[in-house]
Amino acid sequence: MYDVIVIGGGHAGTEAAAMAARRGARTLLLTQNLETIGQMSCNPAIGGIAKGTVAREVDALGGIMGRATDQARIQFRMLNRSKGPAVWSPRAQCDRGLYRRAVRWLLEQLPRLAFAQGTVARLETVGGRATGVITVDGRSYAARAIVVTAGTFLRGRIHMGLDTAIPAGRAGDSPSVELAEYIAGQGITTERFKTGTPPRIDGRTVDLSKTERQDGEGEYWFSHYERMAHPAQLPCYLTHSDERLKDIITRHLKESALYGGVISGRGPRYCPSIEDKIVRFPEARRHQVFLEPEGLDTTEMYVNGLSTSLPSAVQLDYLRSVPGLESVEMTRPGYAIEYDYFPPTQLESTLELKGFPGLFFAGQVNGTTGYEEAAGQGVVAGLNAAARALDLEPVVFKRDEAFVGVLVDDLITRGVDEPYRLFTSRAEFRLLLRQDNALRRLYPLALNLGLLAEAERAVAEARLEAEDRTLDLARSSVIRPEQVNVLLEELGQSPLEEPVRVAELARRPGVALGQALALAGIDVGDEVRWADVELKYQGYVTREVEAARRLAEMDSFTLPTDLEYPGLTTLSFESREKLHRIRPATLGQAGRIPGISPADLQNLVVEVVRRRGVSRETGAVRADRAVGTDDSLVG
Ligand code: FAD
Repeated sequence: MYDVIVIGGGHAGTEAAAMAARRGARTLLLTQNLETIGQMSCNPAIGGIAKGTVAREVDALGGIMGRATDQARIQFRMLNRSKGPAVWSPRAQCDRGLYRRAVRWLLEQLPRLAFAQGTVARLETVGGRATGVITVDGRSYAARAIVVTAGTFLRGRIHMGLDTAIPAGRAGDSPSVELAEYIAGQGITTERFKTGTPPRIDGRTVDLSKTERQDGEGEYWFSHYERMAHPAQLPCYLTHSDERLKDIITRHLKESALYGGVISGRGPRYCPSIEDKIVRFPEARRHQVFLEPEGLDTTEMYVNGLSTSLPSAVQLDYLRSVPGLESVEMTRPGYAIEYDYFPPTQLESTLELKGFPGLFFAGQVNGTTGYEEAAGQGVVAGLNAAARALDLEPVVFKRDEAFVGVLVDDLITRGVDEPYRLFTSRAEFRLLLRQDNALRRLYPLALNLGLLAEAERAVAEARLEAEDRTLDLARSSVIRPEQVNVLLEELGQSPLEEPVRVAELARRPGVALGQALALAGIDVGDEVRWADVELKYQGYVTREVEAARRLAEMDSFTLPTDLEYPGLTTLSFESREKLHRIRPATLGQAGRIPGISPADLQNLVVEVVRRRGVSRETGAVRADRAVGTDDSLVG
């Protein structure tokens, strides 16, 4: 008997298993194929805008993704450098094989985690509660909580053109049909989405002289706890498609599975296929094509930007129209895949299915796309599956605490009408949710939940102390005009007339705190990054903290679980219908449902207080004030 069984060894499953085991649960990771644990189905890269911060959050809690990335990265870049350091986003190109092996090795270090290979066909239940799983070959495993992280595998179907449709979970893997049918048979709403991947090519057949070489940049570790050695670094290459590619795609558009009408599921708008790009942006004459190495021990390359559902012969044709790829050999064609997902408004904020205790969903099965989105949900589902099994407190991340909180709250409150991916713009507190302060935000929780080993706690505490010391140093040290005026002149800024505190100087745009401290004769390590952002954005951060406090007031006003929304006639019909369907846990969550007006929220407060009697009125008054003071919180 296990405490928790995690079905699936992708990016949600591996983090769910790690978190459940770290929280003290005897956990089984049960997946179709042990060799594909941590497999990257598409682009071998981790991080990017918002996603890089999620990878750091997962790591701060003791997850796998950060350390695996550090061990497998073959190119690193900090995105958004031209915008302020508060929105910098780390991204690493990885060796696909090294990443997979690192994930498995890291998981194998967790003593409470066991592994088994098998395809789950259905769940076992007792009295409406999940109690175990049965595999297609008839093995059964019992557990107190189950996490389903089956990715794109549920009734997965690969398309290449109109005539090639292959049942598959991704290229080379069988789909998961029995489990999909079992879940749909339980009355759980099921819908279809699609996503796609580009062709891969033999790097030896690329004329690199016609491309632009792009090297990575310096040192960075996703992990807060370990500084593992990186492998050798490799460059990527940039080229551009032109009118010839546009012409080929336009001529063959009707042969695309997407445009020929054989795919019904919706795809990710922000990760469009090349067919989509040509149709949606007809005026664009060229599109970027990044050639990214698949690994250190192969010449195969990933063709970022040319995802497609066209027949493979057309893919080769359009590839060879791209400068540098005139003689290219295609090693694997691109394809589109359609799969089942479960609209996530059916879930609690713990990612447990409403009305089905012990059953949790995480990752692509909840309508998201992306490794990091999957990993973030894996953390939430794993921690809460362990809580369900061991009778511990549930863990819910707030929107001002982690991008993971934004992600889960968006999913369960707003639902999805296309594959959901994270952007910084989805977070109202984006200056609070930075890659440089993930440890500071989440270490106290990781500590309380007992997720970290002693050595990890020691590293975290030393790091946070060093950051605090650096900030104190900046506030207490003085820099003289002769130490800095040459730099200020170069930056076109007014010179200092008299000595100032280093902190004051570092608030100027273009002056990095590390640089200012160095000019003042003080050496610091990379812990200076956090102190720098804190100083530069102090005013904005204070404002966000205040807005977050108001949100917390609304989120502390809980809504009764048995509230009969259809009978609340002081609310609009539309609001009643949405509240009835989503059944928000708090007033704050109700306010984030699209279409619920501030007036309806106020009426909701009145209705709830009337039902509770006067004893709880203080909370209602606080909530009422929060509703009334900032419409942006409730719109
Ligand atoms: P997966 O990584 O798919 O893992 C699912 C796991 O479940 C696998 O280990 C599988 O073997 C296992 N499994 C399934 N059914 C069973 C069962 N019944 N029993 C036991 N084990 C089971 N993301 C992006 O960010 N950008 C992209 O461009 C992009 N393109 C993609 C293109 C394709 C073709 C595919 C397939 C995915 C793409 N993704 C992309 C999505 C990215 O791969 C996923 O978001 C991410 O892998 C989801 O993680 P997951 O853990 O939910 O599922």
